[in-house]
Amino acid sequence: MIKKAAIYARVSTDDQADKGYSLPSQLDSCRQYIEQLGYSIVAEFKEDNSGAVPVIDRPQGRRLAEMVKFREVDAVVVHQVDRLSRDIVDLLASVRNWLRAGVEVYALDVGKIESELDIVLVIKGWQGSDERKKIRERSMRGKRAKARTGRVIGSRAPYGYDHVRDENGKIVNFEPLEEEAKIVQLIYRWYVYGDESGQRLAAGRIAKRLSEMHISTPGETNPGYHRTRGKGMWHAYTVLSIIERETYAGIWRFGVRIGPTRNQRPKDEWIEVNVPALVDRETWELAQELKGQNKVFSRRNKKYNYLLSGLIRCVCGRAMSGEFFSDHQYYTCSWRNNHHIHLEERVCKARSVRADAIDADVWESILDLFGDLEKLEKQLRIAQQEELAALDPKLEELNAVQAMIAQTEVDAVEIGQALKRAAGLVAKSLEQNMNEVNQRYDALCRRLETLQTELNVTQLTDDTIQDLIEFAQDVFVGIENADFHTKRRNLEMLKVRVEVNNGIFKIDSLAGQISGEIRKLPKAIRYSDDSGGGGVTNSR
Ligand SMILES: [Zn+2]
Repeated sequence: MIKKAAIYARVSTDDQADKGYSLPSQLDSCRQYIEQLGYSIVAEFKEDNSGAVPVIDRPQGRRLAEMVKFREVDAVVVHQVDRLSRDIVDLLASVRNWLRAGVEVYALDVGKIESELDIVLVIKGWQGSDERKKIRERSMRGKRAKARTGRVIGSRAPYGYDHVRDENGKIVNFEPLEEEAKIVQLIYRWYVYGDESGQRLAAGRIAKRLSEMHISTPGETNPGYHRTRGKGMWHAYTVLSIIERETYAGIWRFGVRIGPTRNQRPKDEWIEVNVPALVDRETWELAQELKGQNKVFSRRNKKYNYLLSGLIRCVCGRAMSGEFFSDHQYYTCSWRNNHHIHLEERVCKARSVRADAIDADVWESILDLFGDLEKLEKQLRIAQQEELAALDPKLEELNAVQAMIAQTEVDAVEIGQALKRAAGLVAKSLEQNMNEVNQRYDALCRRLETLQTELNVTQLTDDTIQDLIEFAQDVFVGIENADFHTKRRNLEMLKVRVEVNNGIFKIDSLAGQISGEIRKLPKAIRYSDDSGGGGVTNSR
């Protein structure tokens, strides 16, 4: 007789990760699996419920339990152990019930489950409760899969567009939103071909005109917009972001950036989706060209990059932050920039230091360190050894935490079993134990995560040392070509910390300590109309 199998698939529409394609794909995989087993499918349970709710308390879970109880099925198949439950005790208890009823249990990620104490099952179950990372990954996979089918992702359409939805209400593409699309086209026309007088307008001028016309900004068209400025106040960067956006030329891209960061994924991982264009390709490309040119012109006006921000401290121990006054950039003790100054006792009277002076002093000192390659490498190796030694206690703690997690898993299984037999007062006390075990487990997992992050992040790896040595070699032959980012990266790799005190700087780095006098630069040239705060000098 052919054995009868039931599929139990679960999604949770409350969890971002569970939305989308996962239910059909769970079912597909399970069907194939059952076919391979040679069993017949008698029921497919599709649960839409949080994995935190006990299986027996879910509508489909209860029906499945009944089928098992009356032996209407011979086997239960789930896609992944964590689909069953996010609570290990609930998971193991469910599996145990089914096994005891004489039903075979399969999870695609574990295989046939012979016992609820099967170590693989226990481990997978615990991993399932460590949701966050997986949720992100699964969510990303789902979105990528969706983008590959030529659909756009995201709950909000870019300015100039509205969403097109399919018959099920699912977002498939964009369509132009007439009024906004006109504004986008106007921006491109002014920027690339000029206004009615034929004069091309820069982003700032365009912003000004749109503001004068009282056109709602892209931000204002968002639901839930919180007004911080006057209505219809366009900004140059809003205009520039519209000019940059390739969507308007008909190509929308998914997966360009990694998470919420500015870092980009490799180009071959981007997924292109064709959308209706608001401007032709030629216009868009001309706009990019013009934008590149304008950048060169405005370079001298760009914001000063403080090389040492976050790396420089005042002798009083407070961080110093970049600040512009009297026509120059300075690092100022954060005490001075404290808005509550009048409420606090004045404890630091340190002067600000000119950023251009100390930035150059520090960088030149670092170049000195790079001058002696042999010494540099030796220092870095010593620093690496010291770092490893400092990590030892952390590694020990990691081992201890992992051992405690294993013990907690054993405890949980025991309680889970006992709980099945217990009733009344005993059950109550066991439940309390169970809560304690769950809390202990959560705390241990959090600690484990912290330790793993700490152990991963701070490393002075062989690669970092290699990078530093290679850069030092470039310096040696005079081809270092160090722009701001190169400098900054090297300072960070060397873990540079600078302290200033009364005209003296002290640098602490992995490659050694250096101190010296901060160079003196000509005093600020005062203009009658800047700063406005009469009497301010650079000796502040
Ligand atoms: Zn200070």
